[in-house]
Order: sequence, then structure tokens, then C-alpha cells
Amino acid sequence: MNFESILLPGIDEKRPLVIAGPCSAETEEQVMTTAKELAANGVKIYRAGVWKPRTKPGGFEGVGSPALKWMMQAEKETGMYMATEVATERHVYEALKYGIDMLWIGARTAANPFAVQEIADTLKGVDIPILIKNPVNPDLELWIGAIERLYNAGIKKLGLIHRGFSTTDKTIYRNLPQWHIPIELKRRFPTLPIICDPSHIGGRRDLIQTISQQAMDLNFYGLIIESHCSPDEAWSDKDQQITPAKLRDILEAIVIRDTVQTTEDLSVLRSQIDELDNELLQLLAKRMRVSREIGHYKLEHDMPILQTQRYDHILNDRAAQGERMDMSGDFVKQVLEAIHSESVRQQFEVMEKNKK
Ligand code: PEP
Ligand code: MN
Repeated sequence: MNFESILLPGIDEKRPLVIAGPCSAETEEQVMTTAKELAANGVKIYRAGVWKPRTKPGGFEGVGSPALKWMMQAEKETGMYMATEVATERHVYEALKYGIDMLWIGARTAANPFAVQEIADTLKGVDIPILIKNPVNPDLELWIGAIERLYNAGIKKLGLIHRGFSTTDKTIYRNLPQWHIPIELKRRFPTLPIICDPSHIGGRRDLIQTISQQAMDLNFYGLIIESHCSPDEAWSDKDQQITPAKLRDILEAIVIRDTVQTTEDLSVLRSQIDELDNELLQLLAKRMRVSREIGHYKLEHDMPILQTQRYDHILNDRAAQGERMDMSGDFVKQVLEAIHSESVRQQFEVMEKNKK
């Protein structure tokens, strides 16, 4: 595939390409104040959600077309380019009618081939950069399908946004990064720029710096970060929005490292380690949940917590299995002993709390 650059005139080629702005356009004043503060801090592309996909009806679903007018006014006053999310044919028409410079397809929409096709058909002959967020579910082929639908409609100025994948497990992230997915995408489409969205991955202000640095270390092209003139009062995603001043600090602190092969390979390996540690912890948490259930069962049936025979069997059996998997048996025993003692502690807790 032959992609074209998503860089708009006057924008530096150097990493990271930065897109920033509020989750949602709320009022004319908020759109304008945030835009002016961001422009003063060197941001060149402004994002704001005009139509907001919400899990349940009744929440703030975006201001709609009037917000496009405010954004174009902000463009006039600051010289920044404007970007917004589109999910339907009508959104595309409206955004183009007002002169929005860049569009993105949101994560919920990217998961729906009918919606992506409708947007692709509407965009035929349009020559502005289009960014595709990863689908909410970790389905690489579905993401690639969306790229193909737009490409087949003649859109060449394509880019991707990695915003993480939804999960029902409790984790520090709002959406799991699962870095291996965008990394695999980069391997398959080396010329397609990937922009990281640390705001939606982290869901928390204090995670933005780290995730942004990780993305840069993985050689991502850019960052799309939610920034609001008054984050605590934001009408959507307030926990993850930062002030334009904070954004400047974060961007200044980011280190862009050499992209020589060895560094890049090491970063890829380290990110695999991070990912695996994260999976390990999640598995451990799941195992503890099962242990607590066993605790409840034992309590109901007046059984003792410790059943020595079963414990011995587990230890020896797993140690042998570990050896077959190229680990030392002692190491596996130590790990399992630590896990077991935490299980026992959690079962005691269950007993304590539920004592009649
Ligand atoms: C957004 O960018 O504000 C948004 C709704 O993101 P996502 O589609 O990634 O949830
Ligand atoms: Mn948001």
C-alpha cells in the first residue's frame, strides 16, 4: 500500500507530532481559552470531540455542529489546525462543510465495519488526513480491515491512533495498552504513522507522562493528549485531562532517543516484559479471587483452611512442570510458596469477615 504523509503544511517533521485539546467541545469560551493556551505552548493541531459516543444515553453527548463553528473560530484566531471525531455520514458532511482539517474514527466506530464503510464511502475524493483509532476490542485484523476500507476508498493520508483496549479486569489502565498489537501493526505497515493516546490508555493524569515516554521509546510517531483549560470542570473524561501548562511540562520532559536498531529492539523487548508482568499480576489477582471463593466454600462446609496433602502435591507437581519448562525447580517452589501463603492469608480474611 502507498500511504501519503499526514503532515499538514507548516508542521514539523520531528517526533512527536502533537495533537492536543479537550475531550469535548463544551462552550465557545472553553474551546477558545483552551485553544489559545495550547497555541501559546506551541501546539499546532487542536482536537475536540463534537459528537461524543457514550456508553449509556443521558450523558453529555456533545454539542454537535455549533461546536464546529467555535473550532473554526479558534483556527482563525490561533492558526492551529482542527481535528474532530466522526462516526456517521452526517458527521463527515458537517465537519467538512465547516472546514475541519483532520478527522479521526473513534474506537467504538472502528469496531463496526458497517460504520467504517459508511464513513469511507462518504470520504471518497476527500484529501485530508484521516486517523483510525484501534477498535475497543484487541482485534488486530479488525483494525487492519478499517485501514483497508479507507484505503480502498482512495484515502491515502492515513494514520493510526493507539488508545488501548477495553477490559473488565481491574488494572491501573483505563484501557490496556497491549503494546504488542500496535507493534505488530507497525511491522505489517511500516510506513503508516502511529499516534499514541496516553489519555484514553491511562484514564488518569498521572499516567500520561510515562505512557507518552513509552510510546516514544517504541518509536511511535506522535501523541494525542486531552488538554482542557479547566480539567476538573470538564464535562467528559475529567480525570485524564491536563492543563495546557502541564502538557507543555510533559512534552518538555519527553526524551527522544536514538532510533538506532539496537535501542529500538531493546525497547520492544522491554515493553514485552512490561506487558508480561502486567499479565502475570492479572493472573495472580484472578488466582486470589478463586482462592477466596474456596475460602467461602470451606467456611460453609466447616473445613480447615490448610489441607497439607493437596499442598504437597501442588508443590512437587508444579516444580517438576517448571523444570520441564526450563526453570529451576527451587525457583518454582519459592514462587508457589509465596503465592500459597498469600492465598492462605486471603482465605483467613474471608473467614474473619464472614464469621457468624
Ligand atoms: C476521544 O478521543 O475523546 C474518544 C471518545 O476516544 P475513544 O474513541 O478512543 O474512546
Ligand atoms: Mn475523551
